[in-house]
Amino acid sequence: MAQTSLRDRAPVAQEKVVIARSGNKCAYPGCGLDLTIDPKAHGDRPKATGKVAHIAAASPGGPRYDASMTPEERGSAQNLVYLCGPHHDAVDTQLEYHTREFLLEAKRAHEVAVERAVRNALGEVTYEELTVVCTVIASTAVAPLQFGVELALPLQEKIELNKLGATSVQRITDGLSQAARVEEFIGFQSSVAPSFGRRLVARFKSDYFAARAEDLEPDAVFDYLVETAIENAGPRDTPQIRAAALAVIAYLFEICEIFERE
Ligand SMILES: [Zn+2]
Ligand SMILES: [Zn+2]
Repeated sequence: MAQTSLRDRAPVAQEKVVIARSGNKCAYPGCGLDLTIDPKAHGDRPKATGKVAHIAAASPGGPRYDASMTPEERGSAQNLVYLCGPHHDAVDTQLEYHTREFLLEAKRAHEVAVERAVRNALGEVTYEELTVVCTVIASTAVAPLQFGVELALPLQEKIELNKLGATSVQRITDGLSQAARVEEFIGFQSSVAPSFGRRLVARFKSDYFAARAEDLEPDAVFDYLVETAIENAGPRDTPQIRAAALAVIAYLFEICEIFERE
């Protein structure tokens, strides 16, 4: 039981969503440790040190196992919490203290604090952060887009077609507060490299359809995309970088013609 076995792994896409919502920090009350070690030498890559723990265990006999849950519920981001190594070990062994209610409340409070920090940082997003977030996205080769007429759907209609819930709507609204800045930035980059905007859009669309293919609940798709943008941005992970990623993804969501096709 102490050892995390392979069958205990939650789907990677769900892990990505919980890491996004945790701001890549330990969710244990009072901890907040950064869960990436930045590379110190050229050629090394950032190392993720966090561990995804199940709130209710993945398999019978595991900590806080709940027989009434479906396997999908057990593996969903809602049932996962991102922790540093020591706190992960503590919550899976000291079960009297680390109840399901304790972990759900720790997760909730942490995610609210992260969301607030990112929202507060939105006003501090500069060209520097936008450059970090966009440059790698735009430089990644993606499959050429299919031809098609792009109809400009109003944002509200797009939200409904994508079945996005209140959480995503809030994120999009927050991110769009910086739409003018993102637009200006993309305009400037495009004056230097004319294909910049097109590459950014192509990459965003391919990430979007990859996220949809992961069987994520609609409200998790947005967090997944923001986390993908942050991963692409490299080792720097600050509320300002997270805010820049949110602003860029919200902007691209608004201008791109993406929605769930029946
Ligand atoms: Zn587990
Ligand atoms: Zn911790």
